[in-house]
Amino acid sequence: MAASQPSSSCLFEAIVNGHEDAILTITPQGMVSSWNPAAERLFGYPASEALGLPLDQLLRPLGGETFPAGEAESQTLSAQRLLRNRHGALLSVLLTRSPIDDPRLGHAATLLTAHALHHTLPAGAAPPRARQVNVYESLVESSDDAIVTKTLSGIVTSWNPGAQRLFGYSAAEMIGESVTKLFPPERAQEEELILQRIAAGERVDHFETERLHKDGHRLHVSVTISPLRDAAGRVVGASKIARDIGERIRAAQTIWRQANQDALTELPNRHAFRQQLALEIARAERESGNFVVLYIDIDHFKTVNDSLGHDAGDALLVAVARRMRGALRGSDVLARMGGDEFTALLPATGNPPDVSAVSTKLHEVLAQPFARSEHPIHVSISVGVAVYPRDGRDPDELLRHADLAMYEAKHAGRNRTVLYDPILDQRARGRLLLAGDLRRAAQHGELYLVYQPVVRIADGAPVKFEALMRWRHPAFGTVHPARFISLAEETGFILELGDWVFRSAADQAARWREHAAGMPQVSFNVSPLQLSADVDHTRDWAAQLERIGVDPRQMVIEVTETVILDDSPRVAQRLRALRRQGFQVAVDDFGTGASNLAGLSRIDVDYLKIDQSLIRKLPGDARKLAICEAIVAMSHRLDIQVIAEGIETEEELQKVRDIACDFAQGYLYAPPLEAPQATQWMLERRARPTPPPGSVSAPAGS
Ligand code: C2E
Ligand code: MG
Ligand code: MG
Repeated sequence: MAASQPSSSCLFEAIVNGHEDAILTITPQGMVSSWNPAAERLFGYPASEALGLPLDQLLRPLGGETFPAGEAESQTLSAQRLLRNRHGALLSVLLTRSPIDDPRLGHAATLLTAHALHHTLPAGAAPPRARQVNVYESLVESSDDAIVTKTLSGIVTSWNPGAQRLFGYSAAEMIGESVTKLFPPERAQEEELILQRIAAGERVDHFETERLHKDGHRLHVSVTISPLRDAAGRVVGASKIARDIGERIRAAQTIWRQANQDALTELPNRHAFRQQLALEIARAERESGNFVVLYIDIDHFKTVNDSLGHDAGDALLVAVARRMRGALRGSDVLARMGGDEFTALLPATGNPPDVSAVSTKLHEVLAQPFARSEHPIHVSISVGVAVYPRDGRDPDELLRHADLAMYEAKHAGRNRTVLYDPILDQRARGRLLLAGDLRRAAQHGELYLVYQPVVRIADGAPVKFEALMRWRHPAFGTVHPARFISLAEETGFILELGDWVFRSAADQAARWREHAAGMPQVSFNVSPLQLSADVDHTRDWAAQLERIGVDPRQMVIEVTETVILDDSPRVAQRLRALRRQGFQVAVDDFGTGASNLAGLSRIDVDYLKIDQSLIRKLPGDARKLAICEAIVAMSHRLDIQVIAEGIETEEELQKVRDIACDFAQGYLYAPPLEAPQATQWMLERRARPTPPPGSVSAPAGS
């Protein structure tokens, strides 16, 4: 056996020549002194060319030295490097350098081995294969994606132009550096997890994360990291492809915002609110808690919008939203449902929810006027409340019930909060029935007008009749306008209804014209909506009167106080046009709202009707009496005559006479009467006028 044993130098030569790693030696001067066949294959230079050349000329590491300069030559060093071979192909290699020390000479040479890690040129790199590698290389070079390789300890070994574009660092700045340089501090631990998986031979696919650009800004990237193996299949590093998904994330965010956020106020929208509501229900169910839903509607918002314009309306919505948001806790959700409607979700806190504290706060923060250049805007809200689970168990039911309660708050006079009550549901159903019935009623002649006389106080003469609507409902009997006018206003049916009232009242005026001597005026009530509607139904009123031979001066339009407070130029214009045609105008229910005498001078009116609620308080209330007296005096100065409404007793009549009211209307004289009775009442009254106490009887019709 020993005889056949080759000499150790033969053995070593065989090992070196047969080894799949490139093995070469370098003189202390840096010249190649040996070059095995694997080196020929890997680097592309035959030994005949390589021997005697400086190593640096043969191996061109990218972005750095073959080995860091200044490292002690006497040490064994390993490093992963990216090199270009003779054909320009990229090689990822593990270089190991170790000193060869001669016992006599000391440092005699350096042994260098290069172990191909990735995409190495196969043995005997034939030109077509080399081209393939070049194709690969140019793909890497030209890719929009960042393509990076790194060692298992996270040290960057290659860095393409795409990586430079994405992260801002050049290859020279990154190769040899730890990739964690790119990590935001809070994501530093990600690298360890990634490397663990890579070391286990796994891939990390399309991992979406954030990295830092050289200039410090954050990048949203999707990275795919795969293990790099050596020829023996050992994992020796990782390749990483990173793609900028910032645009996609931003697009996704925009889409999310559009789907979930109200563009004007930036509050959650209806969709997002319902989702929150569903989540809160699930939570409350688990914890058997309760929570509160508020439905919030701005009072008279339409007036602001119509009179000041949509921009001012929008600005007001934003300001209102901001104040309400500020009044709520951070954990409360405030959303805009659309228009002037908002909702709030007050999550369970353990204690029973304190609705009144929150609602008081909301009303309070809005009580301060909103500053605007010309005049401040006063805003109030109507709020409906539903409590989970008592008032509803699913989002739809909770919202519907909170909405119903809000509706009730509007009806009760606005600027208040109403808690949901099951009776509201019944009422709503009743209203719905009634609304359907109302249209039918108009067609079936179930609607009619009654007339209540208005008497001149000085001589007791019946000088006017107020037309009041009635509904003879087949099932409910006589329905009063309080039940159906607001319903008609909500459904828009009021416009048709208003036309019908006008025609009927005008026809009655024509009939009374026959009693020529003392033809009474006919006053009729007009809803604010008739004056603010887009289509002007009042335009041909004068023409209609002409056709039936009635002088517009015989007709009095009764509008409520809200109409004169209305800033919209449209309402004022329509009233002015009507008045120019001869119609007279009365302001109804004066003293019930924010009575505003100043408003009277803005639109010309002929009469002011003091509301019966003020009349009721007159006897025995000196202050009220003084106020009414002032109202009458002011009105007279503005050439406005005053009608006292709801006079039921002699005492009340005496009081209004004392303060110089011009006319009186009320049960003391007569209730609203159907037309024939009204005519009869008028004729009888003229035949034997009842002189007011202390006054001289005047001839009828004077
Ligand atoms: P209004 O215009 O202020 O009408 C006066 C209301 O007071 C009438 O109620 C009348 O019946 C009632 N009244 C008259 N004298 C007395 C009295 O001495 N004591 C008491 N307690 N009440 C008296 P009514 O007919 O129920 O009408 C209520 C309201 O409905 C009206 O208030 C008016 O605002 C509205 N309305 C009535 N008819 C119409 C209509 O054709 N169109 C519109 N838009 N509204 C109408
Ligand atoms: Mg009236
Ligand atoms: Mg009235």
